[in-house]
Amino acid sequence: MLTFSPTAWAKLLFLRDLGPTEVGGFGITEPDDLLCVRDIVLVEQQCTETFVSFDDLAVAEFFDQQIDAGRHPQQFARVWVHTHPGSSAQPSSVDEETFARVFGPCDWAVMAILARGGETYAQLHWRQGGAVRIPMRVDVRFDVPFVGSDQEAWQAEYDAHVHPHCDYRLSDPRWPQQELDDPFFDRLFEPAL
Ligand SMILES: [Zn+2]
Repeated sequence: MLTFSPTAWAKLLFLRDLGPTEVGGFGITEPDDLLCVRDIVLVEQQCTETFVSFDDLAVAEFFDQQIDAGRHPQQFARVWVHTHPGSSAQPSSVDEETFARVFGPCDWAVMAILARGGETYAQLHWRQGGAVRIPMRVDVRFDVPFVGSDQEAWQAEYDAHVHPHCDYRLSDPRWPQQELDDPFFDRLFEPAL
């Protein structure tokens, strides 16, 4: 089961409903429970109603900040959360491609989706001993420490990082689809510490 702290869940609901597009972020977890999301962090992203694309440089910066904060990659680079503005939380083919491209090299990773209609989706991809996909239930946990709501800060984070586009195309040269083959990404996908 993939769980969220009440604060993380409230933030995800708030972000989902701020605009007409998908919104994506990384789930932050504690070392003793890598499947309980305590926070969701947005990075620079281009979004449409059916698509979210993270800026690779911004992702690199996010990873550096998390490492500097003392976290390990399995605490911040394994749970990809995004919202769907419609009623379905089922991943699109683009979602599947993005997940495979970015998180495919990881020993494990989770794709989680929350739709505006309330439907949730989560799947754990596990590579050790042969690739498997495990459907997960999604729930909110109240038995973990959590802080209060901070909609002002969440709004500021959204405004700073989320760039809605109506005419976005995959071939848009402003956002080239980069190959993730530089050494930085090798470092990210080191086996669990
Ligand atoms: Zn999606």
